Amino acid sequence: MNFRRTSLSLFFRGLLASCLIGSITVSAMAQSLLRDTEIEETLRDYSTPIFRAAGLNDDSVDLYIVNDNSLNAFVTRGQNIFLHTGLILESETPNQLKGVIAHEAGHIAGGHLARSDYGTRSAYGAMLLAAGVGLAAILAGEGQAGALILGGSTQFGALEFLAYTRTNESAADQYAAQYMERSGQSGQGLIDFFDKFRYQEVLSQAKRYPYFRSHPLSSSRIDALREVVEESPYTDTPDSELDSTRLEMTKAKLRGFLDAPQLVFSRYPETDSSREARYARAVAYFRSASLKNAIFEIDELIKLEPDNAYFHELKGQILYESGQGEQAIGPIRKALELRPNAPLFQIMLAQALIEQDSNESVQEAIDLLKLALTNEPENSYGWYYLSQGYGRINQEALAKYAIAEQAYNMGDLQRASSFARRAQEDLPRNIPQWRRASDIIVIADTQLAQKKSKRYKPKP
Ligand SMILES: [Zn+2]
Repeated sequence: MNFRRTSLSLFFRGLLASCLIGSITVSAMAQSLLRDTEIEETLRDYSTPIFRAAGLNDDSVDLYIVNDNSLNAFVTRGQNIFLHTGLILESETPNQLKGVIAHEAGHIAGGHLARSDYGTRSAYGAMLLAAGVGLAAILAGEGQAGALILGGSTQFGALEFLAYTRTNESAADQYAAQYMERSGQSGQGLIDFFDKFRYQEVLSQAKRYPYFRSHPLSSSRIDALREVVEESPYTDTPDSELDSTRLEMTKAKLRGFLDAPQLVFSRYPETDSSREARYARAVAYFRSASLKNAIFEIDELIKLEPDNAYFHELKGQILYESGQGEQAIGPIRKALELRPNAPLFQIMLAQALIEQDSNESVQEAIDLLKLALTNEPENSYGWYYLSQGYGRINQEALAKYAIAEQAYNMGDLQRASSFARRAQEDLPRNIPQWRRASDIIVIADTQLAQKKSKRYKPKP
């Protein structure tokens, strides 16, 4: 696993749990969650008006990007929406992507999965209560429980939390049309998206994209959607220019990082001086170890948009990962200045600072990591670097505590419990880290015991 990549990096959040619980699956590892501030913000901005139209609290809906080329989107309990990179890349317009998000939001708002799932959730809550863990810890732990439950399956795509019925699908389509209209947007994108993949209908189940396995298309389904969309006053409302640009930049970045560089260069040839082309090429040059060209492209972009935090971020990442950690600090600082409090930027800067040969840099890194972890307490990378930082200033007990957090958030409960115990031996009892180590021990041990008893329980 590559700990170094923070931007568009492959975060194995939660997924490693599968290695603990059941059979280790390479496929689950390959299908990782992807983190990137720019893409997450774009998707968040696309989704917020839809979630609000759906009556959902947009803060409580989590969006995850799954690094998987196949076309898929799905929801799980706890209001999580998962979007495959394949879906983003296949969306020709923001409106198409928004239509799919609106459909998934329809499943959440329609309560399509609450019923099928209720048992799991309450069992988990009851277990923690029985262990004497406070409510705050339960709430904090819910995300983790979700990750563990997810991790229990060999593949994201194999999850069937949702009862995919014809009725639910049609209902979600209708909800989607409503949400798009309520937020002043066209529902046409979802129809276009479905139309584009109509051919999937005639493919055998196995050959279909996962999305159309769980969401079978039919003429009557599309017709029913068309009927309501065409009545909407916003049917012909186009995407905003900003939304369209953001999708193109997102796709360029994804292709740059995920496609073979040769493929990127033929899709975005040198003759193309558009922003998205330069963006994709910058990444592809970097990935083909052509640092000079990569920096040239990104510098051209920075000239065009000096206040674009993501261009500075990418420059920092390229420099850092090309072994120029010290030179990376400036651009990452600039990115953070333009986009203050972005946890992934804070972690990225901390990562570069820790390697510097001064106590001041290490202390700054520790402060940044603490800030990042306040916003993203489940970020195992943040905890990993924090343990490194504490190690650098000889705070061994705190370093062990940070490792316990890292392990816990990666689902490695055995290691979490063991390091939390070792940290407690040397930590003063009156600090929050000591109490948090106690929580980790209780939660980890309880979950381990529960798994053990489940494993050996004879079938009734
Ligand atoms: Zn659906």
